[in-house]
Parts: sequence; C-alpha cells; structure tokens
Amino acid sequence: MTITVVGSVAFDAVKTPFGERARMLGGAATYFALAASFFDRVQVVGRVGADFGEEELQVLAMRGTDVDDVERVADGKSFFWAGEYGWDLNSRETLDTQLGVFADFQPHLSPASRACDVLFLANIQPELQLGVLEQCGETKFVAMDSMNFWIDSARDALVEVIRRVDGVILNDAELRQLTARPSLIAAAREVLAMGPSVVVAKQGEYGAALLTEDQFFALPAYPLETVVDPTGAGDTFAGAFAGCIARHIDRPVTEPVLRQAMAYGTAMASFCVEEFGTERVERLGAGEVDARVEELQRITQFEHVPVPLEAS
Ligand code: AMP
Repeated sequence: MTITVVGSVAFDAVKTPFGERARMLGGAATYFALAASFFDRVQVVGRVGADFGEEELQVLAMRGTDVDDVERVADGKSFFWAGEYGWDLNSRETLDTQLGVFADFQPHLSPASRACDVLFLANIQPELQLGVLEQCGETKFVAMDSMNFWIDSARDALVEVIRRVDGVILNDAELRQLTARPSLIAAAREVLAMGPSVVVAKQGEYGAALLTEDQFFALPAYPLETVVDPTGAGDTFAGAFAGCIARHIDRPVTEPVLRQAMAYGTAMASFCVEEFGTERVERLGAGEVDARVEELQRITQFEHVPVPLEAS
C-alpha cells in the first residue's frame, strides 16, 4: 500500500502567545507526510527552492518517505508562509504568503506516485488538484483539503474536485462558507450530496466530526494542558486519517475503519500542537500514539442507564 500527497513544502514563520520561530520547516504536504509515514509508505509531490537544504529533506524523508517527486528549483525560493495566533488558538492571522517556486507548481507524478492506493490532495489550486486526479487512475481512496481563498476565487473547479473524491476534510468555517449553511451538519450533508462518501469537519481544539450518508461520529480533541503552536494540526490529522485508511484498503472502508482513522488523526494532531512546527512529531514514537488513541477511547465512553425523567 502507498500514499501519495500533493501540496506545499515550505518554510513558515510562526508567532503564538508561547513563543515564535522565524523560520521552520512547514507546508501542508510536510505535516501530512510525517503523520502518514507512521502507517504506510508515503510519496510527496511538491516543489521547493535552492533554500531547501539537505537537513529539511531528511526530515521529510523520515520513516522512508519517498521525496523523488519533490522538485528542487535551483534559482528559486521555497514557499514561505508567516502567521500569528492570539490567545484563541483556533483562529490565526496570515501575515505573509510568498509563493516563490510554488507559483508555477505543475504537479507531475512519477509512475510510483501515480500508482498509490490512497491520494491526498492538500490545499492547492483546485485546477491543479484536478490535474493530479487526471494522472491517478486506479487510486482506491482520494481525500482532499482546501481553503477559504479557493472557495471564494475558484468555486466551480473546487466543486468539481469535491465531486470526484471520496473524502473531504475541511474545517467547520470552510464547510459553512462553501455551502452558505450555518448548521455544520446541514453543510456536511450538502457536501456529501456533491459526491464524496465521507466528510470530516475539523473543529480545532473542539475536535472533529465525521459524516457519511447514514452515520455521524465525533471526537473531542485530545485534552492537552499545553498547546504551543497549532500550525499543521489539520494536515497532521489528515495524514494519520489517510494512513489508517491505507492500512485497511484491501477491505471496504467501513464505519469502524473511519472511526479508527478519526481516533488516530486526533491523537497524532495532539502531538503536533505541543511544540512548534514539526518538532514534536519528528521525535514521536508509535507507542506514544497508541497510548493516546487508547486514552481517547476511554474518555469518550459512557454508560447509559436511563434516568427516569420528571413529566412536567
Ligand atoms: P494547517 O495549520 O493544517 O492549515 O497547515 C499549515 C501549513 O499550510 C503551513 O505549514 C503553511 O506552510 C501551509 N500553507 C499556508 N498557506 C498555504 C497556501 N495558501 N497554500 C498551501 N499551503 C499553505
């Protein structure tokens, strides 16, 4: 089984109430790959500049991730994003976006990347996502992400991508913006009606909800006392979610598999936010992830002994 991710590989500058980093490894594909590589072999398709060094490439290639399709442009600069969070870590302000070599990114997938079982279209221009779909014929499960900018500026192409994927992983505000429906459930239902079989609504520190045609499932975020930097949490969630699905791909993607994917996504994302950027996940052990999944199971169970209620 293999997983291919197409998206940004970047440098980020991030400031939160708990500290800052002037330049750290980032990008949606980076976070996704680090998380997914705990589950399966990952191929990253992206584009970086000459400033992207051997050290960064080695982090990306940790746990055997294939970086052959990360094109390095000798006379260009890597995508750079700067953001700042206030006390409400669920919302952030983008201070700077420098596309650099990412501006002319035209994903070309090698035969190995095309032959993946699971494909993740990270947040890139929807027309490019469509181009990637054209290249991958046999994929068993395709999931995607997007952002407010594309919902506003490339809605038709974005809806076309949604029509053609199996899973949509968006945050709650994006789902509302896409459908103009204030109810998250109604918004997710509308997206399901466009074609995918799975919609995941990410809700930051409040967790994530999963909707399929006939099921609803939700998990809170793993309860942490210290959150340092939420950057990349969504892509880390998506990496573990997709990784879990890849591990079960020979069987139909059943409800229990999707729920397990939600649990692993939630657990993995909780490590991401404990330190800046990829710092925590870089030295994460598989046992630590399992322990948090178990803990999540424990804290989300309850016994139902009906309480006789008073009639009015
Ligand atoms: P997340 O916090 O999960 O939304 O992911 C944050 C990552 O997305 C950062 O590492 C950024 O480098 C990357 N990013 C920010 N803006 C964009 C964009 N417009 N296109 C692609 N990637 C982006």
